[in-house]
Amino acid sequence: MDKKVRVRFAPSPTGGLHLGGVRTVLFNYLFAKQHGGDFIVRIEDTDQSRFVEGAEDYIFKTLEWCGLIPDESPQHGGPFAPYRQSERKASYKQYAEQLVTAGYAYYAFDTPEDLEKMRIDYKTAENPSPQYNYVLRSKMRNSLNLPAEEVSKLLAEGRPFVIRIKTPENETVSFTDMIRGEVSFNTSQVDDKVLLKADGMPTYHLAVVVDDYAMKITHAFRGEEWLPSAPVHLLLWKYLGWEAEMPQWAHLPLILKPEGNGKLSKRDGDRLGFPVFAMDWTDPKTGEKTIGFKERGFLPEAFVNLLALLGWNDGTDTEIFTIEQLIAAFSMDRVHKGGAKFDYEKAKWFNHEWIKKLSIDQLQLLVREQFIGNGIEVNDSNKLHKVIELVKDRCTLLNDFVQQGSFFFNSPSQFDTASIKPKWDAVKNMFFIELAKAYESSIVWESSDLEKELKELAAAHQLKPGELMLPLRIMLVGGKFGPGVFDIAAVIGKEATVERIRTVLGLLEHQ
Ligand code: GLU
Repeated sequence: MDKKVRVRFAPSPTGGLHLGGVRTVLFNYLFAKQHGGDFIVRIEDTDQSRFVEGAEDYIFKTLEWCGLIPDESPQHGGPFAPYRQSERKASYKQYAEQLVTAGYAYYAFDTPEDLEKMRIDYKTAENPSPQYNYVLRSKMRNSLNLPAEEVSKLLAEGRPFVIRIKTPENETVSFTDMIRGEVSFNTSQVDDKVLLKADGMPTYHLAVVVDDYAMKITHAFRGEEWLPSAPVHLLLWKYLGWEAEMPQWAHLPLILKPEGNGKLSKRDGDRLGFPVFAMDWTDPKTGEKTIGFKERGFLPEAFVNLLALLGWNDGTDTEIFTIEQLIAAFSMDRVHKGGAKFDYEKAKWFNHEWIKKLSIDQLQLLVREQFIGNGIEVNDSNKLHKVIELVKDRCTLLNDFVQQGSFFFNSPSQFDTASIKPKWDAVKNMFFIELAKAYESSIVWESSDLEKELKELAAAHQLKPGELMLPLRIMLVGGKFGPGVFDIAAVIGKEATVERIRTVLGLLEHQ
C-alpha cells in the first residue's frame, strides 16, 4: 500500500509572509488535499537570532484568511507534536553525534577569529571567499586534525564547538525533482555546513532532515532558493541511513519582479506601490508597516487563485479556479521550471473577476466592513444588498465599494457643478425645480417610474432626456460615475433624491 501523503510548509518566523511563501503553502495544500493526505505546518525557529515576535501568529492568521488550514501544526496539534523546532531541540543532538561517530561529521572548535583569519589567509584571486570545505578543513581546529586526547580534553572542558558535516571531495549526488527532473551536484562545490551550533541548537540543515524523517513527510515542496542546500540534505539523508524514506522534492520557481530579473522583494512592492505580503505586517522592532493583499482589498479566493497561476496552469486557457477546482486540477508536473513574473494589474484582474463571481450574500460582510472602516454607517442590510448588486461589477478591489458606493449612504460632500454649468440654462433650472416637486409627491418609488416621470416632464419642457442625465447624475452622486441614475434614486430614496437635487440647484444659483 502506498504511504499516506504528508507534506509540510516549514517557515521560519522572521517577518511578514511574502506571496511566494503563501504560494508554497498553496501548492503543498493542493497536493495534500488531492491525495487525501495531511498538510503540516512546522515552525523552523532554530535560529534564535532571526526570531521575530508575532511572526508565527501572523503566519497562522494568513493561512486562516486564505482558507488553507493545516491538519497538524503548533496551533492545531497533531500526532507528531511539538511542531516548533525550538521545542524539539533535544531530539537533534543525538543525530549530529551519530554522524560524528560514523565519521560523517566532526567537532570544530574554531573561534570566530579563527574563521575570519581563514577567510583572509586563504583569499586568492580565484577564490575570493574561501569556504570551510574539504580543502581548508585540514587547516582548521577540528576533530579531524587535532589529536584525539586534545579533542577529548576540549570537550571535557566544555569548550564551545559546532558539529560540521564532512562533505566528501568530488562525489556526485543527485535526486529527481518533481518539477526539474534529475538534478546533480558535485560535492566539491559544497562547504562543510554547520549541523549543530555551539548553543546546542541544530541548524536548518540538520533540523529539516531530522524532522522530515521524524514526521514521515513524503513530499517536500519549497522555493527554488533552497536548491543549493539540496546536496547537504541529500548527504544527510544518506549518512543518517534514511535514504529510503527521503521525501520526493519539488523546488518551486521564483516569483520575479514585474520588470527586469530577480526575485520579487518587499522593496519592489514599496517602490512600485503594490503589496508583496499576504496581510499587513508591522515590524515589531522598527514599527515599519508593510501593506498586505488583504488590506489592499483582495478577496482570499482571488489571492489564492492568482497565486496558483504564478508558475502553474492546467494546460488550457482557464484562469479562474475555485479552491475545489484547483485541488482537482493541480499537478506538480505542470509547474514551470522558470520564474513567474508578478503582474499587479493581472492580480487586480483576478480580484475583479472574483468580485463579479461571488454572490451578494458572500460579499455583504466584507463590503460592510469597508464602509464601516471608512466611517460610513450601514444599518440597512436590504439597502446594502442593493448597493452591492448595483456596483459590484465596477469594483476591482474591495475598497472600491466605498468610492463607488458611499453616496448611497451619505450625501456627497462635493458636487462637480463645473461639469453641469457649460450647458446649464433657465429651462433646465426650471425643469429640475419641477422634477424635485414631482418626485416629492411621487407615490411609488421605483426606478422605472422615476424614469417615466422624468421623461414626461422633459417632454413638457421640450427637453431631451439625454441632456438631463448628466446633471441629475451629478446631483445624486456628486460626480460622473456610478450605475444607472434611476437605480440610484430608487435606492437612496425620495427624501435624499429631492434634497440632493435642491442642494445642487442652490449651488448652481450661487455660483
Ligand atoms: N525554514 C525554511 C524556510 O524558512 C524551509 C525550507 C524548506 O522547506 O526546506 O523557508
